[in-house]
Amino acid sequence: MTKILMTKTRGQESLEFENWNLFGICNLELGISNNTMVGKENKNLITRPPVVVVLGHVDHGKSSILEAIKDLKITEKEAGGITQHIGAYEVEHQQKKITFIDTPGHEAFKALRSRGAKVADIAILVVDATEGVKAQTREAISHIKMAQLPMIVALNKMDLPQADPERVKRELEKEGIKVESLGGKIPAIELSAKTGQGIPDLLELILLVAEMEDLKTVLSGPARGVVIESYLDSQRGPTATLLVKEGKLKRGDVVGTLSTWGKVKILEDFQGRPLKEAIPSEPAVVIGFAKVPWVGERFQVFADIKEAQQNIRPKEKKEIGKVLLVSPEKKVLNLILKADVLGSLEAIDEVLRNLPQEKVTVRVLSKGVGPINETDLKLARSGKAKILGFRVKPDAIAKRLAERDDIKILSFEVIYELSQAVRTLMERMLEPEIIREELGKIKVLVVFKRDKKRQIIGGKVIKGEVSRGTMIEVLRPSTSGDEEGEKVGEGKLENLQKNKKDIEKGTKGDEVGIMYEGTGQIEEGDILVIYKEERKKAEL
Ligand code: GDP
Repeated sequence: MTKILMTKTRGQESLEFENWNLFGICNLELGISNNTMVGKENKNLITRPPVVVVLGHVDHGKSSILEAIKDLKITEKEAGGITQHIGAYEVEHQQKKITFIDTPGHEAFKALRSRGAKVADIAILVVDATEGVKAQTREAISHIKMAQLPMIVALNKMDLPQADPERVKRELEKEGIKVESLGGKIPAIELSAKTGQGIPDLLELILLVAEMEDLKTVLSGPARGVVIESYLDSQRGPTATLLVKEGKLKRGDVVGTLSTWGKVKILEDFQGRPLKEAIPSEPAVVIGFAKVPWVGERFQVFADIKEAQQNIRPKEKKEIGKVLLVSPEKKVLNLILKADVLGSLEAIDEVLRNLPQEKVTVRVLSKGVGPINETDLKLARSGKAKILGFRVKPDAIAKRLAERDDIKILSFEVIYELSQAVRTLMERMLEPEIIREELGKIKVLVVFKRDKKRQIIGGKVIKGEVSRGTMIEVLRPSTSGDEEGEKVGEGKLENLQKNKKDIEKGTKGDEVGIMYEGTGQIEEGDILVIYKEERKKAEL
């Protein structure tokens, strides 16, 4: 059976604003500083604050660093300053402003970049100084390189005794990131998000890099920029965080993106305070869109509503709802959605469609307005679905059924949290990625003992190093002299000895005794490949 599902796919080329060039503005991807528009308008150029994105491996401390900066700089937080997550915030250091994109993680960055928008000016690569370079560190490096962003390396968790920044720097060098202290060009800073040590230095460094980048923009002309975050607020309607890249965005302006338009009815700063106008690099919350715009879309101010409406591309809409054939083996997360009002349902639908679905597809079996009821529970049981309630609760019967049949009901008050939870559910469906790392090789010299499960062997380490608890692959060299030969067994290195004494590790040249637990019968002359496997949580 082939399932047909809706998914979002967008062609990059369809994302260009047709009439942007009428304003003499080039593709934002190129960056404003090397924009040809500058020319005769030179005198209108102003220096704008840098926009910073934080990337790195999971758990290396991206969110903690963003929090530590907030804690240090946004004192009004106690007074109820930051009440909701708007995807960006601004701080002031040495009388200069810095904007941080507050959606750490590569997915958010990719979503912003995938629509051709250059959002950030500087990237911070966070590396845990106790752990070093990991798979997503490499991924982050490649994103940063592709976006051609200047980079600052932040070696985090320096408060921990096992932190070893010098080793991490050398690891980074292998990835092509040569920091200043090793004679390279990339600034690196040692810090701790936990104690706050090094955070002011990081801010200073950001300002220094920004200065070298000479970030300029124009203040005159219609405002334009990028949608950083968007959602449907049940009270205030479609809400978007816009990052102005040039011009001033004012209350009453008519804004348009490729998917929707709006009149700026309410304009607020990141702390929810009213703004008269938002200037370049300043994140601003805008209320007044007809529909929730997409994250990563570019926006611009139009002369009037008609012009903004004409800019909307019906084609874009069609592409978003493109039909995709899903192969039966692809993983599918079944959901039942219940919400307080139709508007919320529509917004949730949009948010779900925006999740990356290459590996797991989200399928909404049913959706509706009102409390979660018996029908929803029955459908959840037969369709093996999870029930998501947005600002609604299960009624008494539904509650009983959920308990009896052990069906999960998740309730949310904030769309962002709902989408994060769905993402987690999707990630849990993925098999962890297994990364094999070869450590060394042993040539079998003698087989001492063999029983059903275990074999005791003497051999010589001919490559790398071997240690207890690792995995073994047994290879039998062919008579033709093929160096490695075919695999005849696999198992674990249960114990390791040298000169009849237990040891943790043996290195090249050592003659060692091994207790092997696994399949196959080991023979003299076999090669034991010693390796370890790391399970990496799969990402969407
Ligand atoms: P993210 O996944 O990169 O956003 O990482 P988080 O900010 O969520 O941090 C992952 C874990 O590391 C959390 O348990 C943090 O408390 C911890 N952590 C983050 N920064 C530091 C630090 O500087 N020192 C110590 N000791 N722990 C930290």
